[in-house]
Amino acid sequence: MSDAYDGIILGTGHNALVLQAYLARCGLRVVSIDRAESPGGGLATLENPRHPGFFHNTHAFFHRAITAMPWYRDLELEQQGAHYVEPELNVALILRDGRSLEWWADPDKTVDSFAQFSKKDAAALQRWMDEFQPIVEAIVIPEAQSPPLPPERRQQLLARSKAGRQLLEVAKLSPLQFVQREFETDVIRAGLLFFNGLREVDLRLEGLGHSIPALLAGKHKAQMCRGGSATLAAALVADIREHGGEIRTRSELKAILLQQGRAAGIELATGERIMAKAFVASGLNPQQTFLDLLDENQVSSKVRKQAADFQYNLLAPLFALNLALHEAPRYKAAGQRPELDRAFMVILGLERLEQFHEIVAAHERGEIPPMVMWGACPTLFDPDQAPAGKHTAFMWEKLPYALRGAAANWDSEKDSYGRQMLDLWSQFAPNLAGGAVIDSFTRTPLDTERSLPNMRRGDLLVGAFSNDQVGYHRPFPGAGQYRTPVPGLYLCGGSTHPGGNITGLCGYNAARIVAADLEVPVWWEPPDIESVLESL
Ligand SMILES: Cc1cc2nc3c(=O)[nH]c(=O)nc-3n(C[C@H](O)[C@H](O)[C@H](O)COP(=O)(O)OP(=O)(O)OC[C@H]3O[C@@H](n4cnc5c(N)ncnc54)[C@H](O)[C@@H]3O)c2cc1C
Repeated sequence: MSDAYDGIILGTGHNALVLQAYLARCGLRVVSIDRAESPGGGLATLENPRHPGFFHNTHAFFHRAITAMPWYRDLELEQQGAHYVEPELNVALILRDGRSLEWWADPDKTVDSFAQFSKKDAAALQRWMDEFQPIVEAIVIPEAQSPPLPPERRQQLLARSKAGRQLLEVAKLSPLQFVQREFETDVIRAGLLFFNGLREVDLRLEGLGHSIPALLAGKHKAQMCRGGSATLAAALVADIREHGGEIRTRSELKAILLQQGRAAGIELATGERIMAKAFVASGLNPQQTFLDLLDENQVSSKVRKQAADFQYNLLAPLFALNLALHEAPRYKAAGQRPELDRAFMVILGLERLEQFHEIVAAHERGEIPPMVMWGACPTLFDPDQAPAGKHTAFMWEKLPYALRGAAANWDSEKDSYGRQMLDLWSQFAPNLAGGAVIDSFTRTPLDTERSLPNMRRGDLLVGAFSNDQVGYHRPFPGAGQYRTPVPGLYLCGGSTHPGGNITGLCGYNAARIVAADLEVPVWWEPPDIESVLESL
């Protein structure tokens, strides 16, 4: 065991890398292991093999509030080459009649845009932004940046303050109930829910009603990483290596090894064994961790059942159409509102609230819903992602994983479906049908699962946000604080609190827990959520 590592991390998704970076700076010798060609998981940027110089972000692209994340600051990632842009016109929902509902980095401009549709809704937006901003700052953000409290204790602490009670009150609603109660205009309701649906919260689920005002009141909007999403992964990797951490890619995992019931190492598919003196942390999903990598006799039947019952999001899978272009999309609607040609996230095909129910029903049947898509033209804000004067752009749509009962159907249907998306896009931006497209390719929900198997059934959030899988109970009761029922084994990926998406907070929170268990002094200042909530 003398040459054993202190710890081994399974996967090199960004949460795993954040955990590794913090522990490496604690002086621990940690290695992370991944089956992929390069580290970063969902932080992927691909150079077009047919057209070198065009870079496509094939997974995560819109990174919310990254520059405000504690790990981005603590790890000084800008010194390692990470730089973010937060475009002014952050989101534009373009309607068929040429009008647009717009979210700006400047909240006053967002209120003005809402007022074009309804003065009453604009006033409601202003009120919720004002009321919720202190709640977001004082409660929502610190809670996301801390290991979750047991629900009873959380409830007790929140009930002591006005802000806490207001949060609990709004949370009782579902996002759908919230928008129906607070806003009157159909397009605004649809836009708000779509905005929320991007984070894949089940819109019908009571208990999550606060998610929309929290998004509206958040100071930072969607951001993008210059050079492509993989640049953030490269910055994390550089920091890890600088502090003595090791990263091994192209390594298929076979098993987690236990010694006297404690996680003590791993075995690769090649038969190679790598041992750890102190811990193993898994950035994979609970089924990979507890069912695939551990033997039946190593985990209780209760834990195996809890892992087997872990649910994935029905609505999370994405279909992507990626384009290499001679010129950026030029929207017809920009004739009236020129700023639309500089919109960051563009939503097309969404006109009314009822479409949500149609989308959910189609997913339940495994069928393709009426087309609603969203995407961006990254090169408007970072020209280096394409050759001089050229552009890249993409559109995403939520489509079912098991298309008409079988995910394999995607392989024969993806090209024709990509053409249908381009047709709709061209109706809004006619230059796309007029010779602007140099190359295109698609990525299906099945492709997502193939490249990132932890995203089972194409669930890019690595687990549903239903009430019994959030906070203290994510991924399941007894494994919700990054510790697991197996001594020495931790979880650190999107299946833990606060969940999927590029937040890095699963890894950030796990670092504190692992350091505490190893009795290693922490060099950073994590918030103490109990005293934060007590002081409200
Ligand atoms: C198409 C798409 C678009 C997205 N868009 C956005 C977006 O705009 N904004 C946003 O915030 N999020 C987005 N996401 C979601 C985001 O990418 C994920 O939620 C996030 O990457 C999860 O991070 P993670 O740290 O849990 O690990 P992941 O990024 O999921 O990485 C897991 C790692 O584990 C490795 N791995 C898996 N199985 C094994 C195994 N058996 N052995 C070894 N290694 C293994 C994988 O190779 C991977 O490197 C998108 C995802 C997809 C697929």
